[in-house]
Amino acid sequence: MIPPNLLWESHACLPLHPAASFAPIDRLREAGVSFVSINVGMDMNPVAQVMAVIAGFRATIAAHPDRYLLAAHMADIGRAQAGGQIAIGFDLEGAMPLLEQPDMVALYASLGVRQIHFAYNRNNSVADGCHDVERGLTPLGVRMVQAVNAAGMLMDCSHTGRRCSLDIMATSTQPVIFSHANPLALVEHGRNITDEQIRACAGTGGVVSVSGVSFFLGNPAPTAQDVARHAAYVADLVGVRHVGIGLDISFHQPELDDTPPGDYDPTYWWPKSAGYKRGITKTVYTPIETWPLLPQALQDTGMTADEAALVMGGNMARVAAHVWR
Ligand SMILES: [Zn+2]
Repeated sequence: MIPPNLLWESHACLPLHPAASFAPIDRLREAGVSFVSINVGMDMNPVAQVMAVIAGFRATIAAHPDRYLLAAHMADIGRAQAGGQIAIGFDLEGAMPLLEQPDMVALYASLGVRQIHFAYNRNNSVADGCHDVERGLTPLGVRMVQAVNAAGMLMDCSHTGRRCSLDIMATSTQPVIFSHANPLALVEHGRNITDEQIRACAGTGGVVSVSGVSFFLGNPAPTAQDVARHAAYVADLVGVRHVGIGLDISFHQPELDDTPPGDYDPTYWWPKSAGYKRGITKTVYTPIETWPLLPQALQDTGMTADEAALVMGGNMARVAAHVWR
């Protein structure tokens, strides 16, 4: 049973630090957001850091049961909505924290990870990144897709190489999502996705959640109208049932240093040749206040109120209800 009028934030980022403040999550809750998927690690973060972050975030959630609920199933989201809490799931951005072991997928699932994509911009032993040489899904990657399907985790293709994402969608027996991605036809950027990728995603029964990132929306000061325009493009191409929202807001907290240890080089993960400036320090995100503006912005593109509600959360809820079981 899917609760009505859900607002589903497919992807957001807190500092990757166990002591990260959840104040931005409170602001999302106050904006009416029902569920948020929070990043707990990317390919550049070692497993020790990912585990410390998961432990810290789980402790913060457990310490405030009046405000937060770690969701495992759709029923949890209904419970959170009834109790005035925001439901939270974790996501991983890359397969490197899986340590080349498909069994790690179920372990992360047991810790609250509900969604994963396999590569963060660059290639690894499992999959290709969108800013690297195209190879396709590796044999280990095929086993990893099977493990994600078996664990009841959402398979995500954001940040993934184009051919590799098509391989993942052909391999998965479950609907596949893009938790934060924008159409290439509207803005030429290596992180944006082709019509072929959008059609393949819809073909799995999945959802493309449109991001609120300046580079990918093609506006240095992005607005709800920009997000709505990109959502409308996907809806026109494959139908409104395959569109969602994943604003990808990164809530920096300057007092916390979450730089990965070791020889971390941001220009490797966000290459200048792909159009990034000094890593992603120049990125601008649509604000949290985008959420209450989106229903009208979506309707201004020609959607009905019911169609806008599907984009705001109904579609992602339908897919999650199916995949999480
Ligand atoms: Zn991302």
